[in-house]
Amino acid sequence: MFQKVPENFDIYDFIAVGAGPANLSLAIQATESADSRTDRWLILEKEQEVRWHPGMILPGSRLDTHFVKDLVSLKDPTSRFSFLNYLADQGRIEDFLNCGNTSPYRADFDRYIQWVAEKLGDRIATSTEVVSIDIEDGGDYCVTVVTTTGDSKIYRARNIVVGVGFKPRAICGLDLTHPRVIHSSEFLEKTGPSRWRGSVSRRIAQPSSH
Ligand SMILES: Cc1cc2nc3c(=O)[nH]c(=O)nc-3n(C[C@H](O)[C@H](O)[C@H](O)COP(=O)(O)OP(=O)(O)OC[C@H]3O[C@@H](n4cnc5c(N)ncnc54)[C@H](O)[C@@H]3O)c2cc1C
Repeated sequence: MFQKVPENFDIYDFIAVGAGPANLSLAIQATESADSRTDRWLILEKEQEVRWHPGMILPGSRLDTHFVKDLVSLKDPTSRFSFLNYLADQGRIEDFLNCGNTSPYRADFDRYIQWVAEKLGDRIATSTEVVSIDIEDGGDYCVTVVTTTGDSKIYRARNIVVGVGFKPRAICGLDLTHPRVIHSSEFLEKTGPSRWRGSVSRRIAQPSSH
């Protein structure tokens, strides 16, 4: 049974659903921007930890984008949440800049996302899946979540930001539940990193990259 919302229940100015790059970028704006009019916000993430597409962290694979296109630099090059500051924090800024490639490794971008999430601290509630969003009579939103322990909880907010990414999609009628059909989003989970040899067996269909 879901608990009833008490009358005096705290209300957030915004609740962001999903702790992917879109909402982490928004969170940085809310944290650092002089224009930010609120510190009453929260991100709800269904997974136990904040990760960036862990199923596609293939050894040696890189993003196809420049590191400056991180979560914040194009908006504010001086931000402490930049990819460059992440590298500096790890003592690896010279190594990265001398490696001759401006696109981060996917593994590095994943760690950068986790580093940002750690800095945001309890602004992100993990293991918290949003299962419904309703509008109350007064126009506020009522967000119902379930945690991995099976508990349910209700949050209230004046605004909702949905950043839940994409759902795996099959093409040509392929059945994603078939054991020999693997979507890219769960490639490592299904094949196991130890079995990755740098090439995809022709027996494995990869129906969609995103
Ligand atoms: C397999 C894959 C590989 C990709 N590779 C690249 C790449 O190399 N370069 C590139 O530029 N783009 C890539 N993309 C595109 C990708 O969409 C963006 O990089 C970026 O991750 C999008 O950010 P997002 O925040 O919108 O969504 P996501 O990164 O998908 O994050 C959504 C988050 O919402 C959470 N969530 C979902 N439903 C709920 C719920 N009900 N309650 C709470 N939390 C929820 C998820 O767990 C997830 O953490 C890739 C996408 C996929 C699927």
